[in-house]
Amino acid sequence: MDNQIKEFPEGMVPLGNSEFQFSCHPGVDCFTVCCRNVDMILYPYDIIRLKQALGMDSEEFLRAYSVLDKGDNPYFPTVKLKLTEDDDKACPFLKLTGCSVYNDRPSACRTYPLERAVDRSTVGSINAEYYFLTQHPYCHGHNEDNCQTVNRWIRNQKLIDYNTMNELWAEIDTVFSQNPWKGEGFAGEKQQLAFMACYNIDGFRRFAEQHKLLKQFKLDKDFKKRIAKEDGELLKFSFQWLKLILTGKSSLLSK
Ligand code: SF4
Ligand code: SF4
Repeated sequence: MDNQIKEFPEGMVPLGNSEFQFSCHPGVDCFTVCCRNVDMILYPYDIIRLKQALGMDSEEFLRAYSVLDKGDNPYFPTVKLKLTEDDDKACPFLKLTGCSVYNDRPSACRTYPLERAVDRSTVGSINAEYYFLTQHPYCHGHNEDNCQTVNRWIRNQKLIDYNTMNELWAEIDTVFSQNPWKGEGFAGEKQQLAFMACYNIDGFRRFAEQHKLLKQFKLDKDFKKRIAKEDGELLKFSFQWLKLILTGKSSLLSK
């Protein structure tokens, strides 16, 4: 996802508006090679889209398809896709015909072969984003005769909602990286609550109903309606609620 950058990774030049050659379709001889042995981080919005596509409760999804790992953030676990135990360690959503969750595939699958980096140093103004082209020897999509631009790729891969939600996630992950658990340590009560609010949206919905959380804030009527119907909107609320309980600051206070 959004690597927070101070300088560009060595040897990588942002694409800007320049064109790159790439196409991925069932006719490429490497079709679905990249869906095996993949080390994939799942972000909160990825989980919402996948569990909805599969008609599962988020808690059940986490149990079936995710593993916890140590990532860049020393104070919060990273959620990764659990691969099959077959020899080729395939993505569990890979079927003979290709991706079975294509319309709801995770951000990483949509963004590839690009990598996105966001410069958050411009506090108070719009974050600058950069895209880089990655090339793996197994991926022959780069040999296809099809010119792309970053903007076209973002549009065609329907990345805008994912990027928006992943940026909101990156903000709260930054709060987590400052060890806000106040002596509770790893997997303490607050951290477990934060994990649920980020990754287990159905669990958080039950929690919010039980504790009448939404009633505690002056929320815009339309936002409340959207929260009632859409998990993505509830996730936006949950990020702000976590900011409030962990830092005392949140847009919920200005409503
Ligand atoms: S979600 Fe789909 S595109 Fe992504 S790795 Fe799995 S099968 Fe491949
Ligand atoms: S072209 Fe690249 S992205 Fe597409 S299936 Fe082949 S390896 Fe995967």
